[in-house]
Amino acid sequence: MDKERKLIVAGNWKSNKTNSEAVALVADLIRELAPVKEVDVVVCPAFTALSDVSKLVLGSNLRLGAQNLSDSGYGAFTGEIAPGMLRELSVRYVILGHSERRQFQKESDALVAKKAANAHANNLIPIVCVGETLAEREAGITEKVVEGQVRGSLSGLSAEQVESTVLAYEPVWAIGTGKTATSAQAQEVHAFIRKVLVSLQGEAVARRVRIQYGGSVKGSNARELLQQPDIDGALVGGASLESKNFVEIIKNAI
Ligand code: PEP
Repeated sequence: MDKERKLIVAGNWKSNKTNSEAVALVADLIRELAPVKEVDVVVCPAFTALSDVSKLVLGSNLRLGAQNLSDSGYGAFTGEIAPGMLRELSVRYVILGHSERRQFQKESDALVAKKAANAHANNLIPIVCVGETLAEREAGITEKVVEGQVRGSLSGLSAEQVESTVLAYEPVWAIGTGKTATSAQAQEVHAFIRKVLVSLQGEAVARRVRIQYGGSVKGSNARELLQQPDIDGALVGGASLESKNFVEIIKNAI
């Protein structure tokens, strides 16, 4: 697929896969995806599997991501994971502000922005998630909600940091529901997000930011979504848990 920005497809395994299951899945993916150079492929296992998965992905074309990050460094922060702990395991990406964390852990845009700044300060690339609920879409306030999340979650970042941030547009009503936004609906919001980025950091920066789509992406809908001009990859939940399904998505992105 000929695209302006290199596609990035990430698998968010959420709270699934024990360490041994994660190792088995990654071993399959490395075998299947060895020839793929056109797409950045990222796997984001649970923290408990990062160490063993890290040893496997070293030297492969897969990149490692985590599903969260502390807004601080080392210290008395029970249950938190500091950036240095991830860096030692060659983690490159961190998913931040996923709608499940916004909903269940009450994460605010301000907290996501602090975590994103912490990620950048430690050479980790944040994948910052935004997206409206069904009620918000039906009320006609999708753009207002998404703009607020983008501005709030990137607040305080430099132009260089914004440019290397990956954004993920994930309509909450499409996550884990089997309902995908149509490619036209998704493209419309992606183009809008890029307009917001232009107003934040100018045209040149906005053109370089990669914006993933997430929400029930699977092999059968990946190609049409990824062909849209402002869709630069996918953040995949359910379909990333089986090697066959995830590989099908990547092959449809090439
Ligand atoms: C997600 O949670 O990031 C996600 C997109 O999930 P699913 O693909 O299962 O809808």
